[in-house]
Amino acid sequence: MGKLKYERPFIRKLNANPMNKFGAAPESQYVSSIEEHPVKELLAQYGSPLFVLSEKQIRKNVRAALRSFKTRYPAVQFAWSYKTNYLNAVCNIFHQEGSWAEVVSGFEYRKALGNGVPGNKIIFNGPAKQIEDLLLAIENDSLLHIDHLDELYTLLSICETISKKPRVAIRVNMDTGIYPSWDRFGFNYENEEAWSAITKIISSGKLNLVGLHCHIGTFMLSVNAYSIAARKMCTLALRCKSQLNNPIEYLDLGGGLPSTNTLKGAYLPGVDTVPSVDDFAEAITTAILEAGFSQDELPLLIMECGRVLIDDAGYLLGSVIANKRLGDGRRATIVDFGVNTLFTSFWYNHQITPAQEFSQHSENMVLYGPLCMNIDVIRESINLPMLNPGDNLVVHKVGAYNMTQWMQFITSRPGIVLIDENSRVHQVRKPETLEYMEAPELVPEHLTPDKTNK
Ligand SMILES: *Cc1c(COP(=O)(O)O)cnc(C)c1O
Repeated sequence: MGKLKYERPFIRKLNANPMNKFGAAPESQYVSSIEEHPVKELLAQYGSPLFVLSEKQIRKNVRAALRSFKTRYPAVQFAWSYKTNYLNAVCNIFHQEGSWAEVVSGFEYRKALGNGVPGNKIIFNGPAKQIEDLLLAIENDSLLHIDHLDELYTLLSICETISKKPRVAIRVNMDTGIYPSWDRFGFNYENEEAWSAITKIISSGKLNLVGLHCHIGTFMLSVNAYSIAARKMCTLALRCKSQLNNPIEYLDLGGGLPSTNTLKGAYLPGVDTVPSVDDFAEAITTAILEAGFSQDELPLLIMECGRVLIDDAGYLLGSVIANKRLGDGRRATIVDFGVNTLFTSFWYNHQITPAQEFSQHSENMVLYGPLCMNIDVIRESINLPMLNPGDNLVVHKVGAYNMTQWMQFITSRPGIVLIDENSRVHQVRKPETLEYMEAPELVPEHLTPDKTNK
């Protein structure tokens, strides 16, 4: 680094911000490259903004999480939650690592088939399966997780027309000490609705009840909630065996394990407060091992982790468009990615770092996206050094949900690259074009611009 550049002195208005005992440390070291690839070069080649995914980090995460469970329990299977990130390149990393597919719509189901997942390794969840989706899933021997009684009745009537006995589970919701509890999906445990669904299924003789499923919430910070859930699931499973002579092959404890992002309103950063996968694995496996199954009847444990396996493997790179002062004197910086691209900025205070060296001056500022919309705020308050138009930023831990929940709004969605384990860069989704977005549109004859008049 050469001689420091002269910067003229300036007077800054102080704003009183909520303080914590650590004071307002600047959040940033600069991060000028992602796995040896300079941010500026990636943006020059693939356009700004740009999502970057690390294959190495994804594989590391899934292997570590699997190890956490497998070292504690004899039979464990992961299923990748498609809605968390269903880029085919991403799904196939998980499938290569041995994960099944966990899907919640006919669209996702067909994506999993397209990725070569054998039908019997697709778990079909969700409250809104269409009849043609159910037929396809039955044909392929997939695991159908029934959400409500109407779905059960639909399945039973489908069974009248086929010779197969579909493999099913029910989704169970329950009180795990976390409120408001998630009771909109599945059958309730405490009021015996779940038990009643189980008896209906088994007594029908038309469905093969092989599993029990729950997914108690998302970004769950309570390890104990999983102990409670696992115990209740075991109680149901043991009852299926003892009272209905129907042993349960697997317990699917869902996902919901938190990533290390920082939730809005949290006092301390997520990295310091979020329990580890080991903690959750310990709670879940201990509960099952102590529930009273005989050794040879321990059910397969399925986990459907999403965000915890991919959040920290994703980055969003972007550029500064402009700076301005707001009416109250606060500094505002406008960047080229908005809440439409970074959907998770609605609930996380994402860590954001400059991508180049910066001067010693930092200031609390608002970070706005480029949309002409008041809600387009990436961070309401962030301590960053002075950034100039054209400077670049790196948003960290954006791998989960952004690349599926992003909205096409005002601008098109950016491209995505994957850096593989040998540090090669692959484009895994191109930036959207006007042509792509208009492809499904149809313009009636009388509203077509008359090109001959021009
Ligand atoms: C969304 C979802 C998951 C994954 O949730 P995460 O919070 O990302 O771990 C797993 N199972 C079901 C049924 C889901 O709906």
